[in-house]
Amino acid sequence: MTLIVWFRNDLRVHDLPMLAAGVADADQIVPVFILDNELLKGERSSSNRNRFLIESLEDLRLSLQRRGGELFIRHGKPAEELIKLAKETGATKVYCSADYTPFARERDKKVSMELVKNGIDLVAFPGRLALDHPEKVMTSNGQPWKVFTPFWKRWLLTDRRPAVKAPRHIAVPKNISTGDLPKIETITNKKQLSVYAAKGGERAGRQRLQYFLQHGLLDYHKDHNDLGADATSRLSPYLHFGCISVREIEAVLPPGDGPDAFHRQLAWRDFYHYILWHFPHNLKHEFQERFRDLSWNDDQELLNAWKEGRTGYPIVDAAMRQLRLEGWMHNRARLIVGSFLTKDLGLDWRHGEAHFLQWLCDGDTANNNGNWQWIASVGVDPAPVFRRLYNPSSQAKTYDPDGVYIRRYVPELAEVSDKYLAEPWRMSDCDQVKSGCVIGRHYPRPIVDHAVARKAALERYAMN
Ligand SMILES: Cc1cc2nc3c(=O)[nH]c(=O)nc-3n(C[C@H](O)[C@H](O)[C@H](O)COP(=O)(O)OP(=O)(O)OC[C@H]3O[C@@H](n4cnc5c(N)ncnc54)[C@H](O)[C@@H]3O)c2cc1C
Repeated sequence: MTLIVWFRNDLRVHDLPMLAAGVADADQIVPVFILDNELLKGERSSSNRNRFLIESLEDLRLSLQRRGGELFIRHGKPAEELIKLAKETGATKVYCSADYTPFARERDKKVSMELVKNGIDLVAFPGRLALDHPEKVMTSNGQPWKVFTPFWKRWLLTDRRPAVKAPRHIAVPKNISTGDLPKIETITNKKQLSVYAAKGGERAGRQRLQYFLQHGLLDYHKDHNDLGADATSRLSPYLHFGCISVREIEAVLPPGDGPDAFHRQLAWRDFYHYILWHFPHNLKHEFQERFRDLSWNDDQELLNAWKEGRTGYPIVDAAMRQLRLEGWMHNRARLIVGSFLTKDLGLDWRHGEAHFLQWLCDGDTANNNGNWQWIASVGVDPAPVFRRLYNPSSQAKTYDPDGVYIRRYVPELAEVSDKYLAEPWRMSDCDQVKSGCVIGRHYPRPIVDHAVARKAALERYAMN
């Protein structure tokens, strides 16, 4: 028997239930990735993620070839390409990993209907999340959890499937065309490629995990908010593309405060996928109905200053420049710039969501939407607005006390003393000259006054 194994955002061979099952159930499998123009060029596409994707596919192809297999590449609409491939190879089943975003669910529903008309079954396996069945985790009243901590406590107790091994040998048909991967230049815009972005692929992801297990995990609870230390795992793009399995990570975590704190972050990832599964309209609307007609500022100049890292608040600018340089941003920094955009600048969180999706290698519909709604105080896991309205200067002093992070990304502030680094506009004229940073010439004045903006934001939210 021949069956098709359809890769999407599960670009690995280790702990991949659909691949292990495919190899066990069939004499030969047809591992395929379908490059859909909607994915590569649609409004949610990104040059950084396109590059990461191609690197991951190249790596996956090598891993499959090393096992005697191949990764077949097809270009076009998934249903049409799968039907053609099934006719070519005699396959009657397509295995895939379940995906939970509204777009993916809609696509899979349509693909499944088309396949069934042609006598082909689409069979979905777990593998994307730690939870196998997000639809089954409910409160005692049969409602979805909307607050993180009780969800997390329940999540910890939910049974897990065992991690599965990478197949040793993979048999594939020999007489069909393999198909080419596009050249990265043809599907990216050079101006939107980050120079220091992480390299895609399962091997790079596994190396990153090993590095973190040895150097970051045990002190994660102490260091994960230290911007300069850069001590988080940086596994997010690998998790987004499924180059690494969250179950495999869970399985190697030892006991301890660091591993426990890290494990809790993995629960946030499941939580936001779970939330979007249960509340798909969150993609368009604020989860909290009362904030759906919140008034937002529409100032393009402010938005551009935020995007380009020239707000005059060093911690915000460092973070926004890190995003462009690396296609990634530290979580604490994402919170600071999210609060700044929505509360200090009063700009719609959807602008932030879209900009992050454009640049982040880990740009992920569920995580991005959930976190943006969280920091804009309009989503699930609610808290009073003032709790998520951060003072950028205090955040800089707390989470970048020696200015390592700011100096790394905002070189024009390199010679400014620690005392003024969070608020360089407070330097005397003489200090500005001495530090080679004249405010208004070498580095911008603050585009808003935080104290004034804070008051306005609290009033705006209070009106709803
Ligand atoms: C406004 C905003 C937007 C965000 N957009 C995204 C996004 O598009 N994609 C994305 O993967 N993460 C997003 N996050 C969550 C978080 O910032 C990143 O997952 C994290 O910074 C990735 O770095 P890391 O791998 O070193 O994380 P670590 O601290 O090492 O955590 C390990 C893993 O846990 C998961 N995780 C950690 N924190 C969160 C969280 N708050 N929400 C969901 N998952 C989490 C990630 O998969 C991460 O790789 C966003 C956060 C904010 C505040």
